[in-house]
Amino acid sequence: MSSGPAKGPVPVGALRAAAPAARPGGPPPLPKAQVRRARRDFTVELVADLLLGQDLLSDAQRREVLAKESTQRARLGKRESRGGVRHEVSPIELVASFQFPFAGGRPDELLDEDRISEAVARELGVHYWKIDPLKLDMALITRLISRPFARKHVMLPYRQADQRLEVLVSNPFDIELFESLRQLAAMEVTPILSAPSDILRSVTEIYGFRHSVKAAEREQSGQIHDVDIGNLEQLMKLSGVEELEATDKPVVSAVDYLLNYAFSQRASDIHIEPRREQAVVRMRIDGILNQVYTIPRAVHTPIVARLKMLARMDIAEKRRPQDGRIKTSRESKGEKREVELRVSSVPVAFGEKLVIRIFEGAFQDLAELGFAPEELEIFEGWITQPHGLVLVTGPTGSGKTTTLYAALRSIASEAVNITTIEDPVEMVQEAFNQVNIQPKIDLTFANALRHVLRQDPDVIMVGEIRDPETAQNAVQAALTGHLVLSTVHTNDSASAVSRLKDLGVPGFLLAGTLRGVMAQRLLRQICPRCSRPTTLASDQIAALGLGRPEDLVGKLQVAQGEGCAYCRGTGYHGRTGIFELLPVTAKTRQLIQAGAESAEIEKAARLEGMRSLRENGVRKLASGLTTFDEVWGATADIEQR
Ligand SMILES: [Zn+2]
Repeated sequence: MSSGPAKGPVPVGALRAAAPAARPGGPPPLPKAQVRRARRDFTVELVADLLLGQDLLSDAQRREVLAKESTQRARLGKRESRGGVRHEVSPIELVASFQFPFAGGRPDELLDEDRISEAVARELGVHYWKIDPLKLDMALITRLISRPFARKHVMLPYRQADQRLEVLVSNPFDIELFESLRQLAAMEVTPILSAPSDILRSVTEIYGFRHSVKAAEREQSGQIHDVDIGNLEQLMKLSGVEELEATDKPVVSAVDYLLNYAFSQRASDIHIEPRREQAVVRMRIDGILNQVYTIPRAVHTPIVARLKMLARMDIAEKRRPQDGRIKTSRESKGEKREVELRVSSVPVAFGEKLVIRIFEGAFQDLAELGFAPEELEIFEGWITQPHGLVLVTGPTGSGKTTTLYAALRSIASEAVNITTIEDPVEMVQEAFNQVNIQPKIDLTFANALRHVLRQDPDVIMVGEIRDPETAQNAVQAALTGHLVLSTVHTNDSASAVSRLKDLGVPGFLLAGTLRGVMAQRLLRQICPRCSRPTTLASDQIAALGLGRPEDLVGKLQVAQGEGCAYCRGTGYHGRTGIFELLPVTAKTRQLIQAGAESAEIEKAARLEGMRSLRENGVRKLASGLTTFDEVWGATADIEQR
């Protein structure tokens, strides 16, 4: 992994206009005339010309931009002023608003603010940086400048290095701005060009959250237990960013900012952890936890209370673990998407730790999970049977539930009655009848299953089979004309058979009902924007058990992400599944019936063509979709038995 945002902006050259040598007592001011002239220089025409020079705009597109400049500016200005504080529409924003295709990019890529900023920076010899909000220094920013200032100038201080202040700007010629910052910080200023919309979004997030937390802290010093519990609607409405700035309920805003931020960062979960001195907020993005905020202890309690209230948990109960759910929605690219939040609290040494898992309403389709075509065909064959048992196995976090939901959705229709029994319901889907198990009132998997069967559904999804009664009821249901989908907690597919045997299901019953077992894992996918070819070392080849390493060294082409702004320097973007599908055939059925060991069943299935998780991982590795580390990490536990 090289360069990328981990080390901050990539130097392309230095801007010469901004910085005479520093001297004690602060730098001297620049002549006013020079300031005025320079400021006017960053125009739409200049940007259009620079893009034309790099073949990113055609002549005709350039003419269109210049002809429609004023009307477009008026339109954008109107849109922007909704937020209250106006800022000047940047030439970069303006050109991007035409949404021209990005010449030389993928078919769906647009000449967006990032592309334009990058091209302009290259041409002007300025640094460019795609903002990674996780790398912004909240303390530095809020110490140096106010929100209205940042917003008016569309800028943000980035970091201090060697007596220089690096500043993210949307106008690289804004000498007046650099001059005032130079006076303010008493050090030289290096401008770095960033996309204007990214800067504004970060301004809002940083000042918004910070402001809310500060205000909440002040409020807390007076009364600890004054938490807003008025809103008991089930569907929580997240405030938009504009509304947030107006609200006078700081805890409410802080929570809304936090959630908005997590959504915009594609986080899959948020951890709020109390420590001795303060609380820490971490977010998991593509499987990796990043620390995002620290908040004062005094504010931790009301933020947790607000979230528990939204999730309809018992706010007063702090010593027992609890679970809850919040249903909300968010705007993404102009459309509203449902988001499901699963909240759990656990008491730890310094208070309550809260984990919020985020499920984007957009359910995935079976075809998007990462199946090879022939695997998809096998799996679809199982779930379109009128009855029988289909099992998905894998450790926690391997995507089992997502697969089951996708399976149910693919077979859902007016004519099919689908019931799910879950602990707890993960994603609400109106087409299904979903039952939340509640051990407190003795509604267990097994009990719920018994009740559900009286209503004679066609398809039943049982969240997990983990006790003998559920196992036996599930098999019974499959035997009496229902299609039953469920998960078991085993590492590979063949072990699921022994697991059910251990739970008291006789071999002949299982042999008669089981359609197939699928084991699965999730692997991080290589970022498509910075993927580059590489080869495997001999020890890696040996570790994967691929033939004779010495023959293959340097010959196996794989890929790796170098790290770029798009993937925040990780080299990964998104995840994909790998699968091991064990179909119940004449041969395997015979073995199951005879009570064979899982190793024997596995061997038979492999002889009939079953590919292991490791093999399927290696296929994805060889096709450049994922890395050695991912395949190795996700399958080491099985192959080393
Ligand atoms: Zn990348």
